[in-house]
Amino acid sequence: MSLVFDEYGNPFIVIRDQQAKERLRGIEAHRSHILAAKTISNIMKSSLGPKGMDKMMVSQDGEVLVTNDGATILENMQVDNQIAKLMVQLSKSQDDEIGDGTTGVVVLAGSLLEQAEQLIEKGIHPCRIYEGYETACKIATEHLKTISDSIEFSKDNIEPLIKTAMTCLGSKIVNRFHRQMSEIAVKAVISVADLERKDVNLENIKLEGKEGGKLEDTQLVKGIIIDKGISHPQMPKIIKDAKICLLTCPFEPPKPKTKNSIEITKAEDFKVLGEIEQKYFTDMVEKVKATGANLVICQWGFDDEANHLLLQNNLPAVRWVGGLDLEKIAMATGGRIVARFEDVSADKLGRAGLVREVGFGTTQDRYLSIEDCPNTNAVTIFVRGGNKMIVEEAKRSIHDALCVTRNLIRDNRVIYGGGSSEISCGLKISAMADDIASIEQYAVRAFADALDAIPLALAENSGLPSIESLSTVKAMQIKEKNPRLGIDCNHRDTNDMKAQHVFDTLPGKTQQFLLANQVVKMILKIDDIIKMGPGAD
Ligand code: ADP
Repeated sequence: MSLVFDEYGNPFIVIRDQQAKERLRGIEAHRSHILAAKTISNIMKSSLGPKGMDKMMVSQDGEVLVTNDGATILENMQVDNQIAKLMVQLSKSQDDEIGDGTTGVVVLAGSLLEQAEQLIEKGIHPCRIYEGYETACKIATEHLKTISDSIEFSKDNIEPLIKTAMTCLGSKIVNRFHRQMSEIAVKAVISVADLERKDVNLENIKLEGKEGGKLEDTQLVKGIIIDKGISHPQMPKIIKDAKICLLTCPFEPPKPKTKNSIEITKAEDFKVLGEIEQKYFTDMVEKVKATGANLVICQWGFDDEANHLLLQNNLPAVRWVGGLDLEKIAMATGGRIVARFEDVSADKLGRAGLVREVGFGTTQDRYLSIEDCPNTNAVTIFVRGGNKMIVEEAKRSIHDALCVTRNLIRDNRVIYGGGSSEISCGLKISAMADDIASIEQYAVRAFADALDAIPLALAENSGLPSIESLSTVKAMQIKEKNPRLGIDCNHRDTNDMKAQHVFDTLPGKTQQFLLANQVVKMILKIDDIIKMGPGAD
């Protein structure tokens, strides 16, 4: 746009490139973005639940990622459409706040929009629709509270937490070992949690992974781990009550910095030189030992001769440790990193209850685990798996389990999964809809119908006849007045999700409803899309 003046000095605005703008208005706009949102939600639908499928994402440079996690799928999908981007954001918000339920929230939002589309076609104004949705969402979240159960747990009784984390891992690649994985996740959270204050800092749980080995080899280390081993195979592999000297300077006799040449004419001179160097190095070792250190962790390398001398002098060492790792160790052990060898002293040593090198059977792989550090209660989950894709997906799944456990510590209320809570909320909303006299009644009912998308998708993904399963369970819920009945995805011959130990957290489910409703409202409020063409201001 530009402001110009005519010959009489009157201003007028020239709008350039009007033709470069694309514009969709009213019902066309609604149709277009509902379609975009539905497309995204349809992609996600088949990933929902314990029998959900995984997606393989191939990046532009050919890197492959296999995942079942909604947020990860969407994050890696290249979407151009703005509305589709909103759905990606939706899943991310659920991930940030709750950490689980990222697929469900998108499926729900897609279904709400699908219902809204039908109402718009009937001529109901979008604003009446989202007002109705708002009412229904309120009913649903209130109802969730009434059907929730609280689970009791303590530091010594973590079984209920493990069961809940297992539900969340049941749909992931790790499900063959989901008992073991959820035990690891729950133990990790418990060890960093403050149960009195109901507070968990997940930053204190590090997730590290290395390909090789099996998923069962995944383990919880009560400390930090470094991807390095002790420098000599004959040095002790377990150091109790470790006092660690952290060096960023080379641990070897100094080399002349400028170019000097030493001329050696006799064999004796060469021997003498060798002895002087050796003495220099043994003095260095003595100096470190004199501070009381029983382990040296060094950012630099030292050659094989130095390594041998360290072994002879009983000073285990680790070499080539990265700068970041060294800082991590320093923080955890309370040590100070020494940059000049002259500064080595007793007060700069880091402490740890136990340092050990852990190897993996016959492979060369090993890592150093530094446990019982004074300055941190950080723990590390060390994930193993056949290849990088599996390790990465296992890390994502464990992250979900960690989040679920953290949520339970903050709020110990759970609701039952398998679509049971959605069916129960749907029934409640439908019953309440009859009392609403205005046109909103349609929207409220539509919300109830939209909730069916979750049990329908769960049934479909498990190879069950979806509509038939849903109507059977619905009828059973009404007849038995039991809100715990859901879709029997694992064919266990019972629809009672309490008996199957399928739990979702109450805050997680509530958040799913609220976020989905919020984004749907936002999308329904847009009735004009103006796309600037290239060159338009
Ligand atoms: P999200 O990313 O949304 O958590 P999931 O793929 O983990 O998606 O699926 C979660 C849904 O699957 C929840 O609605 C949960 O109740 C349901 N679910 C999980 N395990 C079972 C099970 N064993 N039987 C029935 N439903 C299950």
